This record gives sequence, structure tokens and C-alpha cells, in this order.
Amino acid sequence: MPSILRAMQADITTLQVDAIVNAANSSLLGGGGVDGAIHRAAGPELLDECRTLGGCKTGEAKLTKGYRLPAKFIVHTVGPVWRDGKHGEPELLASCYRNSLRVAAGHGAHSIAFPCISTGVYGYPFELAARVAVDAVNSSLPQLDSIREVIFCCFSAGDLAVYRRLLDAAPA
Ligand code: ADP
Repeated sequence: MPSILRAMQADITTLQVDAIVNAANSSLLGGGGVDGAIHRAAGPELLDECRTLGGCKTGEAKLTKGYRLPAKFIVHTVGPVWRDGKHGEPELLASCYRNSLRVAAGHGAHSIAFPCISTGVYGYPFELAARVAVDAVNSSLPQLDSIREVIFCCFSAGDLAVYRRLLDAAPA
């Protein structure tokens, strides 16, 4: 069955999907932005589980339960901090998407929602990040049978417009 890629504007903590992805920092002990929102919505048990994980390297991904979220799992990944694009940022960002999909598929997830990793405090230019995200997901999906739906969860209408344009242009 072919997978569906779509973009929507939402607070990722409200989505009823098997897994949501968290744009975490390497400590996995919480932060601002989407990370803070996920910890607030999931409740304090999330931090307890995160403490057992020993952090996460940039580009890698680790899974926890979703606790009070509608989502069953949270995949925590650490995006690269943008410097100038010449310090491996695109490869590391692509790894975040690929590894998150792999970890979620390994737990049987059929649906997964991503925030726009690295595009907040980490400063990755939005459109460049969105291109990496769409390409990495498109190239990973053929190897991951269980994933049927991938949502790019945008926080603003402007961000959503960028994804809609890219997805309309990209081969399904
Ligand atoms: P990073 O440190 O990886 O840049 P941020 O959390 O600062 O992570 O920002 C990543 C993206 O998440 C930004 O596009 C931001 O607008 C978005 N964002 C922040 N809060 C939420 C939320 N509750 N749901 C979905 N996206 C969010």
C-alpha cells in the first residue's frame, strides 16, 4: 500500500497518530519550543523515562511511550544547530527523519507526525529544512512497509504553505 505524505497546521501534541516526533536536545531532559510543549502535555512520567535513555546524539532517535498524549509513542530526535550549511547540517537533518521513521516502524507504527525539526531555536532556514525533510521521508518509505501516513505538522500557516508547495511538486 503506498504511503500518504501530508502537511497540516496543528499543535503536534494534539494529534491522534501512532507516533509523534520530538525535536529534542541531546540531554533529552526537556527544553523549550515543541520539546517543552510535548513534556507539558505528556506529563512528568515522560521525563522519568527520558532520564533512563542516556541522552541522544544529533541525527539519532530514541523512543518513549506517549503517556498522556493521544499518540502512543514519542520519538525523540536531535536536529543539527544551523551554522552555515557546510558543517553536515543537511545530512544530520536527513538522519533525524530517517532514524525517526525506522525507530517508529520498529515499534509497529502506521502513522507518524513530525514537527519542523531544527527550524526554531536551532535556526535552520525553513525552506531548506523542509526540502531535506520531504526528500528524506520519500527516500526512506520504500524500506518501511508499516508506515502508511506521514504528517508534516506545521505550527504556522506560512510554514504549512511551504510544505504544501513542496509536496505538490514532489513525486508521491
Ligand atoms: P529546534 O530546537 O529543533 O529548532 P524548536 O522547538 O525551537 O526546535 O522548533 C522546531 C519547530 O517546532 C518550529 O518550526 C516551531 O515553530 C515548531 N513548534 C513549536 N511548538 C510546536 C507545537 N506545539 N506543535 C508543532 N510544532 C511546534
